[in-house]
Parts: sequence; C-alpha cells; structure tokens
Amino acid sequence: MITVKKLQKLLESIVLRGEGGFTTEYSNNRSKTNVARYDPSTAMIRMFLKNRKLRRKKRRSLLIIGAAVHELAHHVLFVRRKPPVHSPLFFFTLGELVERLRRRGITLQSGDVL
Ligand SMILES: [Zn+2]
Repeated sequence: MITVKKLQKLLESIVLRGEGGFTTEYSNNRSKTNVARYDPSTAMIRMFLKNRKLRRKKRRSLLIIGAAVHELAHHVLFVRRKPPVHSPLFFFTLGELVERLRRRGITLQSGDVL
C-alpha cells in the first residue's frame, strides 16, 4: 500500500507552482460517509483508511490515490479562490490532475476516483 509520504510527494508532483502548501494525513477514524476529506482552514487532506471502500485489497493504492486526487482538486480550487463545490469546473480540474498522474505512469480508472 502506498505510504502517506509517497502519496504526499505524488500529489505535490501534479500541482502547479503556488498550488502546494497542503498536507496529507492517514486517519484511523472510522468515517462511514467519507473516504477522504479536505479541510480548507488547515489545507489538510485526510484519508479515512478504515472506510469500507478503501479497505478493499484489490487496487487499494489506486483507490487511495483516486480519493486523494479528488480532495486535491478541492484544494487547488480553494487556492484559486473558486467555490469548493462539485461544479463542472471541479470535475474539469479533477480531470486535469488525473491526466497529470497518467503522464507519471499512474492510470486511474473512473471507479478509482472516489
Ligand atoms: Zn468532493
């Protein structure tokens, strides 16, 4: 499974200059509703590894990356001062980040991007 350090480095590698300044954390809290969450007040991406969807053994690292890149899109839009909602702009930004991951050799399937 991908370590939080590697995940943080990977996410940093796909944002533009000025869009960094976020931290990624693995939480052992059980969240039934969320696989991950972005907190704009602390710029923290928190991954809930005990969530049922992230506990699957198959493709686990890719699911973690997929959930993290979703939260990263929230961070990027927050930094750009755009509203952090699931707008068409959000999914466009998410698509851009997923494409940058693909160029780094990590291909997510649509089901991986939680
Ligand atoms: Zn979201």
